[in-house]
Amino acid sequence: MITTDVVIVGAGPCGLFQVFELGLLGLKAEIVDSIRQPGGQCSELYPDKPIYDIPGIPVCTGEELTDSLIKQIEPFDVGMHLGEEITVVRPEDDGFYVETDGGKQFTAKAVVIAAGVGSFQPRALRANGIEDLNDDSLQYRVGDPQQYAGKRLAILGGGDSALDWVVELGPIASHITLVHRRDEYRAVDATVAAMRDLEAVGNVTTIENAKVSELQHDDGVLTKMTVGNKSKETFEVEVDQMLVFFGLAPKLGPIAEWGLDINRKTINVDTERFETSTPGIYAIGDINHYPGKKKLILCGFHEAALAAFAIKQRIEPDKKVHVQYTTTSPIMHERLGVKEDEE
Ligand code: FAD
Repeated sequence: MITTDVVIVGAGPCGLFQVFELGLLGLKAEIVDSIRQPGGQCSELYPDKPIYDIPGIPVCTGEELTDSLIKQIEPFDVGMHLGEEITVVRPEDDGFYVETDGGKQFTAKAVVIAAGVGSFQPRALRANGIEDLNDDSLQYRVGDPQQYAGKRLAILGGGDSALDWVVELGPIASHITLVHRRDEYRAVDATVAAMRDLEAVGNVTTIENAKVSELQHDDGVLTKMTVGNKSKETFEVEVDQMLVFFGLAPKLGPIAEWGLDINRKTINVDTERFETSTPGIYAIGDINHYPGKKKLILCGFHEAALAAFAIKQRIEPDKKVHVQYTTTSPIMHERLGVKEDEE
């Protein structure tokens, strides 16, 4: 059990900045995201695209913004839990009990939902017979690469993840069949070239402009896949395991079950504290709704600042929470780890 002041659901730009605003006020946070890297939409959907409307930064890419936010929260020793979805948020005693699908448990005095457009989940394969397969036979994430040693592997997809794993698992698996719905790959050139090298020596077979239509199994264990291509050819391939990389799509998921006042796929909040219908649970960034809401990063940053003040006040109800400036506040300098001669 991890005990903390605040658990933040989502490590997108707003969740990351929430860590900073809480840290300035002396509050400790744990941040959890269902995907394996921080940055939310910025790193998942547009890492290389330029953003022009972050105050004080004329232009930066989604990835650069994420890197800067991570640098900015370095002084605050945040607990970062990636690749885990928060499934349970429940009021308990005078705080909250929080649980992830990976079995992590937290108790916190407050929760901030910064879940954007929802938790990014792998896009599922649709094929006849899929519902009968066991979890080992069909996977959307790679666990220990050694589990594929000596196996006949099918990898589906044509982006970075699919190609990276073809190249990494090529020398480990007995053989890999790569199935892609196009004949052009969206991975970096060097990875495509490495995949072609493995194909040339026979470790990898590609079936392009193609889709898997049927899966056969023996008592839940995958045995064979049927693949059809655009030229109406059909291939029957014997396989032991299948890895699917069709990208990620957001889903509101478990948040809908936390008893909050939901407005379509967003959470209603007030504009003073950004608190939801459950006192002590706040919502900031793209996930919240209030009159005049704009889904912009800079709006989420403002919401994070006000939510932090509200949380501080909730945790210390008898003290007045004063605004202090980072330029001049000695206590903030201490929290930021700023040394005397840097002031
Ligand atoms: P997100 O970035 O969506 O992050 C939320 C995170 O929460 C995700 O990583 C998700 O996996 C995680 N999560 C959700 N549920 C759970 C759960 N139950 N457990 C664990 N984790 C969970 N905005 C601008 O201001 N300027 C721009 O120029 C701009 N350009 C854009 C370009 C594109 C192509 C797109 C798609 C968006 C753009 N935006 C821009 C919008 C901006 O990206 C969003 O406003 C911003 O990402 C919202 O940040 P967030 O932290 O609220 O949520």
